[in-house]
Amino acid sequence: MKTRTIAEPYKIKMVESLKTTTREQRLAAIKEAGYNTFLLKSDDVYIDLLTDSGTTAMSDVQWSKMMIGDESYAGARSFYTLEAAMHEIYGFKHLIPTHQGRAAEHLTSLIRIQPGQYVPMNMYFTTTRAHVERVGGIFFDCIIDEAKDTKVIHPFKGNVDMAKLQKLVDEVGPEQIAYLNIAPCVNMAGGQPVSMANMREVRAFADKYGIAVIYDATRAVENAYFIQQREAGYQDKTIKEIFRELMSLADGCTVSSKKDNLVNIGGFLATNDDGFARRAKELVVVFEGMPTYGGLAGRDLEALAQGMREMVEDAYIASRVRQVEYLGQKLIDAGVPIMLPIGGHAVFLDATNFLPHIPQDNFPAQTLAAALYVDSGVRAMERGMVSAGRDPKTGENNRPKLELVRLTIPRRVYTNLHMDVVAESCIELYENRHKIKGLTMTYEPDSLRFFQARFEELEPAMA
Ligand SMILES: *Cc1c(COP(=O)(O)O)cnc(C)c1O
Repeated sequence: MKTRTIAEPYKIKMVESLKTTTREQRLAAIKEAGYNTFLLKSDDVYIDLLTDSGTTAMSDVQWSKMMIGDESYAGARSFYTLEAAMHEIYGFKHLIPTHQGRAAEHLTSLIRIQPGQYVPMNMYFTTTRAHVERVGGIFFDCIIDEAKDTKVIHPFKGNVDMAKLQKLVDEVGPEQIAYLNIAPCVNMAGGQPVSMANMREVRAFADKYGIAVIYDATRAVENAYFIQQREAGYQDKTIKEIFRELMSLADGCTVSSKKDNLVNIGGFLATNDDGFARRAKELVVVFEGMPTYGGLAGRDLEALAQGMREMVEDAYIASRVRQVEYLGQKLIDAGVPIMLPIGGHAVFLDATNFLPHIPQDNFPAQTLAAALYVDSGVRAMERGMVSAGRDPKTGENNRPKLELVRLTIPRRVYTNLHMDVVAESCIELYENRHKIKGLTMTYEPDSLRFFQARFEELEPAMA
């Protein structure tokens, strides 16, 4: 029998109109935005693949739950609803809500890092690393080398290289390790998962040396899906079971709820460590609000509790990841260089191989994102040298091996016809790639420069 099409496990109840623009309008808009897609107005964007952060379409049930949000300042019922959902899905003992993931990272870094201590991570995430370095922590990359080669196919490219961890501990001693910060599905490596087997090794290593494991669990549901698809012994387990097992291997986690959790704002810190939770509750009132709302409204907590339950439904997460694969496969079939294998939340154009004539100093990924916008009104994001920032010690540009443009798919928002439009634009740009020239940076903010940096064209090639 032929394989049958599997459609989205939902139907559409409300729509939002999209605006189209002319090429002239887009040229003016990207110039105005300093060739930085973060600085474009969303009204000038047709298909917005800048990020899957907070761009989710909520379900009818989530919207209805918002009506019963308890807006009491303290002890709100909605907190206990959320806590029950977190206990059921994640299984950690303590919950501290925050307004976003980075706020949970802020608390974690303040509490758990002494200046000069190392924080090993499987690659890095921008805000996580910024918080680690702000309090004097030293980022240490312990991801396997395969992650840095866009052409290598590996089922778990986010895995931790245990030999790198061992070497670090041998050199500096376990007391110099603040904690292991492991991300199931590594955003910056292209949405690549870790295996359960690897997380068990990490757990055993951490236990041996008395080091805590704190996940960045922002994208761990997508990771659970890959484990179900790729790791022996997990095919017959539900996403909910796999997810819970994955969480059981950590001492706590920080989460941006704007991703897996299917809400537009929110985040949290969860942990089994009583002392860590107590400190976090002391500090959250300084930065966010009472520990029962952490900078969120009662209705946000309700939508989040429901989102946690929906995110582990097998049909939903399969449909989400398959849409990413649908776009990626179209590009692969046309010979467009992308990061392999296709990740959980995004397709990453490999700008180094897409635009080999543009040196890294002229920001090939930044250039490609701008050119894509001018071509079709599709907004993507640079993930290369601009995002990597500078070395805090030497002040030199960090030179990441990966120079990528991220086409990030929001959850439950676009159809596969939208994906076709995106693919056609990428393919046409690739066919005319020699016409694309590089950029120079004209304004550089001190931290997280990719959000607000401005650029100019080396020569007016996009016109
Ligand atoms: C988005 C994200 C964060 C930061 O979360 P915010 O809610 O944007 O502050 C941290 N880690 C990962 C892996 C992310 O994708």
